[in-house]
Amino acid sequence: MIRIYGELSKQDKKFLNQAIVSTLDFLTTRRHRKNTDVVLIIKEFQDHKYLGETTYEVLDGGHRKFTIHLAPSARNISKNPLIRYKKLLNTLFHELVHVKQWLNGELVQFQKSVRFKGEKYNFDPDDDLAYYGAPEEMEARGYEQYLYARFKKLVTQKPTEKPV
Ligand SMILES: [Zn+2]
Repeated sequence: MIRIYGELSKQDKKFLNQAIVSTLDFLTTRRHRKNTDVVLIIKEFQDHKYLGETTYEVLDGGHRKFTIHLAPSARNISKNPLIRYKKLLNTLFHELVHVKQWLNGELVQFQKSVRFKGEKYNFDPDDDLAYYGAPEEMEARGYEQYLYARFKKLVTQKPTEKPV
């Protein structure tokens, strides 16, 4: 189940919902997505330090809940949501790659270290070089533009004509 909170029109929430559903469908399997909730909160960060942040909780009965917090896009008046939300979508797709990493068991976070695809790394959020060079971050950044292009194609392609 997906829930979206923020000062957005119903239509824009529907658009972002489609972005989450279609991207997670592509990145993960139905089995891995089972019992998973995604909550998207669009709200200014208090210290304006981040564009996006995701937290992961395992609830009773193995139910998983991801909370993705994104900063709203800077004022953009384009009527086209693909343009209006371009920056936000890139950050959303980045965060969804982390959701994929968790769901597929590729990423395991410990207090001071991270295991990604079987290799363990020290984790220091204040070390910029370590942060940008972390393989799970490199993977997430590498996917951003591809997932945006993919979603753009999905929402702009004409519906296929039905055979008569
Ligand atoms: Zn990241």
